[in-house]
Amino acid sequence: MTVVGCLGCDLIAGRRPLPGGILHRTASWVVSHVVGPLNVGTLVLSPLAHVTAIADLPDAATAEFGPLLRRTTRVVEELGTPEQPYVCLWAHGPGHRRHLHFVVQPVTADLVAAHGGLRSERLQAAMLAAGVEPDPTEVERFCAAARARFADEDLPARGLAAPGEALRERGA
Ligand SMILES: [Zn+2]
Repeated sequence: MTVVGCLGCDLIAGRRPLPGGILHRTASWVVSHVVGPLNVGTLVLSPLAHVTAIADLPDAATAEFGPLLRRTTRVVEELGTPEQPYVCLWAHGPGHRRHLHFVVQPVTADLVAAHGGLRSERLQAAMLAAGVEPDPTEVERFCAAARARFADEDLPARGLAAPGEALRERGA
């Protein structure tokens, strides 16, 4: 089911512009770049169908979700140096539920530093309040690279690259 006027449905169906386009799709999900004032490289996993509650996800979509989430975080780990990729789901409009969209946000040391050391939900709140949209050219560049990474079936597990390992060893 697609709902006209639902941002998620409209983006997936091409009724609204989606910078970077669809990066990857499974039978039940699409991955795209976030629309809104978060940093370049922040991706969104949305069910193709208009689903507004995790409790309502069909079995097939539920089974696809874990591998897709892992794959998506591997892509953002490959394309940047996040201290930690955040994963969150709000999908909460004023007084109503919205189309599910899991946000995968690569949070780097530089991003934290640029926001006075804020982390987690406080960092996101500051970014949303500031309202600074990512540069469209950078979004397109990131998405081209991400699309290629998603197409690579042999994308390796993370935990191999030195910077992330070093951070983990320091107990960050
Ligand atoms: Zn929808």
